[in-house]
Amino acid sequence: MTSIELTGLSTVYPNGVRAVDELDLSVRDGEFFALLGPSGCGKTTLLRTIAGLEQSSSGTISLGDRDVTRAEAGKRGVAMVFQDYALFPHMTVAQNIAYPLRVRRASRQAQRDAATSTSASLGLAELLERRPAQLSGGQQQRVALARAMAMAADVLLLDEPLSNLDARLRLEARTFLKRLQRDLGLTTVFVTHDQAEALALADRIAVMADGRIRQLGTPKDVFQRPADTFVANFIGSTPMNLLDGTVADAAVSVAGARLALPAGLSVADGMKVVAGIRPEYLQPAAEGITGTVSIVENLGVTSLVTLECPGEVLVGLTVPEHEEPVVGTTMTVAPAPGRLLVYAAETTELL
Ligand code: ATP
Repeated sequence: MTSIELTGLSTVYPNGVRAVDELDLSVRDGEFFALLGPSGCGKTTLLRTIAGLEQSSSGTISLGDRDVTRAEAGKRGVAMVFQDYALFPHMTVAQNIAYPLRVRRASRQAQRDAATSTSASLGLAELLERRPAQLSGGQQQRVALARAMAMAADVLLLDEPLSNLDARLRLEARTFLKRLQRDLGLTTVFVTHDQAEALALADRIAVMADGRIRQLGTPKDVFQRPADTFVANFIGSTPMNLLDGTVADAAVSVAGARLALPAGLSVADGMKVVAGIRPEYLQPAAEGITGTVSIVENLGVTSLVTLECPGEVLVGLTVPEHEEPVVGTTMTVAPAPGRLLVYAAETTELL
């Protein structure tokens, strides 16, 4: 097992795009680590740079105590599963899984043994003689994982491992992947643009933008205390309310209301801020933000209510499905205790 240490790592493409920009990151031994961010933020490039499929322009990459910055991809001890699984269509499942051993010129018996043992743990034992075209998306994904495992690598890299699966299968595959990673204890880095997937799977998450890490933390850290408004906006299945306000007398004036600053936070009067409140943490109150119910969306167990507030500000909150308000009525809401986040308008950072 192996840790990953990146220092001052940059990857610049020949066209001048700086896809990874002076990045420092430590992934712990045995950790399940997510690189999360919007399209184009550089997460796939970072993964490919760790794998040795892209050449870094500066900085270092260490796996355990080995500096692999200039090592060839095949010599890094890294297995990568690609977004489209990249299975060989003309080979059977068994041949696909054993391929890394064939490349290393292992004996036929060793190849068969590897295919049998890894396929058993991934529920593929019955499918060994099929070809990829005769498999479902979920089965193809497991063959790609089995092939990566057969490499007996120190580090597993997964590029959008679940994105080719339909929504239902994705949930099943997610649970399966989490259990597999825990059982193997293999240091694993996966790339995703899906915040729910990162929150559900990862021990820790790096939220990326423009080739840099905006926030590094546990799923709880990034969900409960996003470090800036970019992360706040990106994390959460219903978007966080980010409301422009001004501080006066230890309260934020926002959407026609005054919300007390969080305990212990002192901010100068007159400072422009952004009040961040998750829809799940807004609740009906005697005093607070008052608005007219304009839209009610059913989310299953809860409903998302949109309030039109003074100054044309829209505020979202979730309510239990049986407590849906009537469109056109008035509601007053306030953050649950301790749930108001205050960001500096100028820097967008959490205060
Ligand atoms: P996605 O989720 O869409 O795959 P990503 O976060 O993985 O996005 P990258 O694919 O790493 O992002 O791309 C980062 C930046 O580098 C983008 O601006 C992209 O256009 C650029 N880029 C990616 N591959 C190349 C390449 N081979 N040559 C030049 N520029 C590239």
